[in-house]
Amino acid sequence: LSSRLSSVFDKLTRRGALSEADVSEAMREIRIALLEADVALPVVKDFVAKVKERAIGQDVIKSVTPGQMVVKIVHDALVEMLGGDDQESALNLAVVPPAPILMVGLQGSGKTTTSGKIARLLTTRDRKKVLLASLDVYRPAAQHQLAVLGQQLGVDSLPIIAGQMPVDIARRAMDEGRKGGYDVVILDTAGRLHIDQELMAEVAAVRDVVTPSETLLVTDAMIGQDAVTLAREFNEKIGITGIVLTRIDGDARGGAALSMRAVTGRPIKLLGVGEKLDALESFHPDRIAGRILGMGDVVSLVEKAAQHIQQEDAEKMAAKMLEGRFDLEDMLSQFQQIKRMGDIKGLLGMMPGIAKMKKQISEANIDDKVIGRQEAIILSMTKKERQNPDLIKASRKRRIAAGAGVDVAAVNKLLKQHQQMADVMKQMKKMGGKKGLLGGLG
Ligand code: GDP
Ligand code: MG
Repeated sequence: LSSRLSSVFDKLTRRGALSEADVSEAMREIRIALLEADVALPVVKDFVAKVKERAIGQDVIKSVTPGQMVVKIVHDALVEMLGGDDQESALNLAVVPPAPILMVGLQGSGKTTTSGKIARLLTTRDRKKVLLASLDVYRPAAQHQLAVLGQQLGVDSLPIIAGQMPVDIARRAMDEGRKGGYDVVILDTAGRLHIDQELMAEVAAVRDVVTPSETLLVTDAMIGQDAVTLAREFNEKIGITGIVLTRIDGDARGGAALSMRAVTGRPIKLLGVGEKLDALESFHPDRIAGRILGMGDVVSLVEKAAQHIQQEDAEKMAAKMLEGRFDLEDMLSQFQQIKRMGDIKGLLGMMPGIAKMKKQISEANIDDKVIGRQEAIILSMTKKERQNPDLIKASRKRRIAAGAGVDVAAVNKLLKQHQQMADVMKQMKKMGGKKGLLGGLG
């Protein structure tokens, strides 16, 4: 696949912005890559249409081809769509204990194994007291399987009472959980080979009895095109709060993650990466995105190029400051540059040797939130005032403050901060200028 891709990309010529033709051509290949990764067809169609719209007109970074640029845009869109910041992918246990975790999914998807893995995680990492309960009354050995896992882990499991039905077992488990002072009760349900309305009704009845704080749909990553139907069905009938994808250690490229996230809007919370009980990982969207797309090299190439350009910008700015001249217009453009790059710490990190200025800036307490306000203050000044801050006396300060919707103290603070920075610029010039300062930038 990658050779086919690069041949397409080679044909694309370099341009300032991505044209519709560039994007369409690259997208044909992206579409195939996603289908090969087993992303469900309707999800692929949707995704491609969305990203196409977003990509057209975007600037192509110097030194990468439009095709490579498209891959990077697709990658970022994949990461975004897969979602899952730490908060979203954490298990919600914030209920009156015991917090019930309901494990649902098809037979053989890994529910019982994952129940054990989660029990292990919660007891060892979070020091929770966990009770395991199997509601799988259909396969003779199923309840026993969970009890054995519990023994291996040193985690309690609900005593087995032969002949009891799932809803009754669930009720007993919650009672035991309350009486025994457990933090979490993990309820491992039975699965069928296919979606089955009887089973759905049973799981829904259990859900109504325990009101789970988490209902996790456990799915084999190999599920492929069926992921959409499965996820939609479980979400509509049971209502899931998260997805666990198992057998990520196998060959599956992980397209099911995207499909299921797309149709349910629910986060992928955990990944099963092996048969052992410690083979459970938290979900990182960028890793799965890379795996689905299978074009990690191109993505990191474009990222490097982007970083390089940021560094060039930073160097240009540094060079300008070194002329020792730093008026409020320079300060404004600096703010804008910081905003464009998103992260002030990242920017400062690109300017080695300016330790002194870093200190000034952090003392002046610049962060991304206050930058907007400071920008507004400078924007309320006339050009003359920006170039010659000494002009700004009391009456002008009042006018500027009113224009920016702040008080005069804020204007004073900004002017003081500017003065400090300008002083640093002058000092640096005296200290030997460009050579000493830019040494670190190579
Ligand atoms: P259940 O029917 O949904 O309860 O599925 P089980 O938990 O019994 O798992 C079925 C099989 O899949 C067992 O042999 C497990 O060892 C295996 N399994 C579960 N999760 C993983 C995983 O993340 N990776 C691998 N390689 N095997 C797994
Ligand atoms: Mg099982």
